[in-house]
Amino acid sequence: MTIINDFDESYTEDSSESCFKCHDSKTYYQRKGPHIGLYCYKCGWLKWKEQKPDAFIIGFGKYKGKSLGEIKTIDIEYLKWLIKNIDNKKIINKIEKLL
Ligand SMILES: [Zn+2]
Repeated sequence: MTIINDFDESYTEDSSESCFKCHDSKTYYQRKGPHIGLYCYKCGWLKWKEQKPDAFIIGFGKYKGKSLGEIKTIDIEYLKWLIKNIDNKKIINKIEKLL
């Protein structure tokens, strides 16, 4: 699966997984906000895939509302600074995967 840095809602990509409801049917990934869902061409939505670390949206600070992927392209030093200055292990872990 390709890692994408923006929040293109129209992003879709064919998946190699087959539908667990209709079995033979092909599936695809589609972005909904910060999440990427697995969809079947026949029966629609199947399940959410894990949110990519680059798609995680920061809810605080000077880049509030931006994704980690966006911040990485704008100000990578800020991400390095965040790791040392915040206590949220979940966010630190996501940033470390990106750097
Ligand atoms: Zn299906």
